Amino acid sequence: MAYQRTESYDQQTTDALMDHYKNIIGLLGEDVEREGLIKTPERMAKAMQYMTQGYEQNAVEILNSARFKEEVSEMVLVKHIELFSMCEHHLVPFYGKAHIAYIPNGYITGLSKLARVVDVYARRLQVQERLTTQILKAVKESLNPLGVAVVIEAKHLCMMMRGVQKQNSVTTTSAFDGEFLNNHVTRNEFLKLISADLD
Ligand SMILES: [Zn+2]
Repeated sequence: MAYQRTESYDQQTTDALMDHYKNIIGLLGEDVEREGLIKTPERMAKAMQYMTQGYEQNAVEILNSARFKEEVSEMVLVKHIELFSMCEHHLVPFYGKAHIAYIPNGYITGLSKLARVVDVYARRLQVQERLTTQILKAVKESLNPLGVAVVIEAKHLCMMMRGVQKQNSVTTTSAFDGEFLNNHVTRNEFLKLISADLD
């Protein structure tokens, strides 16, 4: 077998999380020993560790690992990057897409690395506003570009499943730096590009 996908979990952390999840399921009024739930604490323990693996990853290192010298001064834009994160107030998901643009200043990075940076910060307990600025800061630190722009559009399950139950509301957050902040022509070009659909 040439390719094997493996996931590894720290046993001590997994065991401790399992104990807590067992208690939580019981407190919610369920029988944790019934067939359908017997393995749920273990699954939750592993799922939560997977969904918070971003704490162990370094976005700037990822960008630096594919940084190349290149004399390009046109905007580089990756849009519609899928995003799944978890709201830190309710521990339920928010999901949507991220759009990232930068104007190189001697260096570019691998396009897939920008998508990985989104995962690094999305796989933590988050608020959408902080997620947006963390992505911007990582790109800025690694590439020192002439400008960076990040826009995130997301739906929050904590709003859709509980509370105000606004099923179709989309939250948009943005962060701009350099040329995107100072030059409205550049910023408008970016905003036009991300709202235009590919076909
Ligand atoms: Zn929430």
